[in-house]
Amino acid sequence: MRKKIVAGNWKMNTDYNEGLTLFSEVVTLVNAEITGSQTAVVCSPFIHLQSLVEKSKTSDKVFIGAQNAHQAESGAYTGEISAKMINSIGVDYVILGHSERRQYFGETNELLAKKTDTALKNSLTPIFCIGETLQEREANTHFDVIKSQLVEGVFHLDAEAFAKIVIAYEPVWAIGTGVTASAEQAQEIHEFIRKEISAKYTQAVADEITMLYGGSCNPKNAPELFAKADIDGGLIGGASLKARDFVDILKVFN
Ligand code: PEP
Repeated sequence: MRKKIVAGNWKMNTDYNEGLTLFSEVVTLVNAEITGSQTAVVCSPFIHLQSLVEKSKTSDKVFIGAQNAHQAESGAYTGEISAKMINSIGVDYVILGHSERRQYFGETNELLAKKTDTALKNSLTPIFCIGETLQEREANTHFDVIKSQLVEGVFHLDAEAFAKIVIAYEPVWAIGTGVTASAEQAQEIHEFIRKEISAKYTQAVADEITMLYGGSCNPKNAPELFAKADIDGGLIGGASLKARDFVDILKVFN
C-alpha cells in the first residue's frame, strides 16, 4: 500500500547510549507533534535495534529498520547478520542497495536481488535504493542505470512480492554532499520509475508503490520535494541524526 514514509539512515553513527537518547527524542517529538498518517522508520546500527524496537512500542507511528542483511538464510558467514535474525527481534524494514554498500562493499544488482528475496521471505520490507552517480548523469546514462538497477535488482519479483517493497531514489551525487536534486529532477526520475513499474507489472502496482527521495534532504527542501506527485517521502541521512530535523521533515505530511 502506498504510504507516506520518512526513513532515517543513521549509518555507522551513534554509540549505543547516544542512539538510545536520539531515538527517545524522536519518539517524544513524534508522539507530541505528528498528527497525520505518516510513518517514521529509524534504521539504526545493528546493536541498537532490539532496544529501539522495545522503545518504538510507545508509538504507533515509529518503526525500526536495519541497514543491511545477508542474502543467505544462515551459515558460515562470520560477522554477518541474517534477515531471519533481524526479523526475530521485531524489526520491520531493511535498507538494501544503499550506494555506500554498492560502492564500498561491492554489492551488485545480482547480489541485491538475492538479498531482496531473503528479506521478503523473512517478512522484512526492503527499502531498495537505486540512483546514478554524477558521472552517469553527466554522460546522460542515468535513465539506463536506474532501469538496469530495477530490472536486475527487483523486477524478478512477482507482482505480489514487488508490491511489498519500498523504492528509494538516491542520486549518489546528492548523498551527504549538501547538494540536493531539485524537486523537478527528483520528480522526473520518480515518474520514470513508476512508468517502468507500470510497464513491467500493471498501473495498479505502480500506483501502490511507495517511493522515497534521498540525498541531502532537510526540513527546508522537504516540503517542495514531498509535494511532487510521485514522491512519497524521504530517506534521510545526515538530518536524521538530529531529532528536531528528522521530525520536522516528517511533519511535512501533517
Ligand atoms: C543516505 O545516505 O541515504 C542519505 C540520503 O544521506 P544524506 O541525507 O546525508 O544525503
